[in-house]
Amino acid sequence: MLIDYHLHTPLCRHADGAPEEYAARAVERGIAEIGFSDHSPMPAHYDPDWRMALEDLPEYVASVLRAREKFPRLSVKLGLEADYFPGTEDFVYNVTSEYDFDYVIGSVHYIDDWGFDNAENKARFEESDVYDIYAQYFDRVARLAKTRLFDILGHPDVVKKFGHRPDRAYDELMRPALEAVKAAGMALDVNTSGLRFPCREIYPSRRMLEIAREMEIPVTLGADAHRPAHVGEGFGEAVALLRSVGYENLRRYARRTSEPVPMG
Ligand code: ZN
Ligand code: FE
Ligand code: FE
Ligand code: ZN
Repeated sequence: MLIDYHLHTPLCRHADGAPEEYAARAVERGIAEIGFSDHSPMPAHYDPDWRMALEDLPEYVASVLRAREKFPRLSVKLGLEADYFPGTEDFVYNVTSEYDFDYVIGSVHYIDDWGFDNAENKARFEESDVYDIYAQYFDRVARLAKTRLFDILGHPDVVKKFGHRPDRAYDELMRPALEAVKAAGMALDVNTSGLRFPCREIYPSRRMLEIAREMEIPVTLGADAHRPAHVGEGFGEAVALLRSVGYENLRRYARRTSEPVPMG
């Protein structure tokens, strides 16, 4: 089966289309299961313009449940995309315990005060050593996994989004991060949105997936849809990539537990 676990909603203030429209698109594309994972509320000081407010959480859950009711033959899961940022762990724990979420994606969008995946801030990539930026990014990923707050690592190498690449291989940065992901029992969000950005590549890279496969880390699929047309985008390419690396299954979630299902 095909599953898209990375769908946003307008509550995050930078996505368009009601959950029902995302669901309709999934049905058109032959996707059997979807999951909404909109940007979770965070403490007031953290990036408030790019996520739902805490007061919006009940409406978010209700809007996903409405889509589920309208599409009885489509499996619709309730997830969240929460951020890993030091000092916000208790807040994230409280938010993710408030409802029966099927899964929680954990993403790194900040290195200290630098929102590196925002195009407005990309100049900073030119000002420092790209290998060193990657080292800091993967260090945050390892710390994310060690919190044990999350089920799935969102867009695992999103640090490449604007096409900045280290001038040498960096297995030694990915390995400890992936070991932490493995130890936490997490999956990787194989996220096709990278195809829409200057890096023009699925997150994670083939190399990162090869290492993950060696470690037997499971995977999910996500388009990181911020509008209905994005649902399932690039999945042909993603499935081909996964198969070429040796993956045969996707991970399917219900109430924070998971099982493998055959992919495709
Ligand atoms: Zn977003
Ligand atoms: Fe994200
Ligand atoms: Fe997302
Ligand atoms: Zn995302």
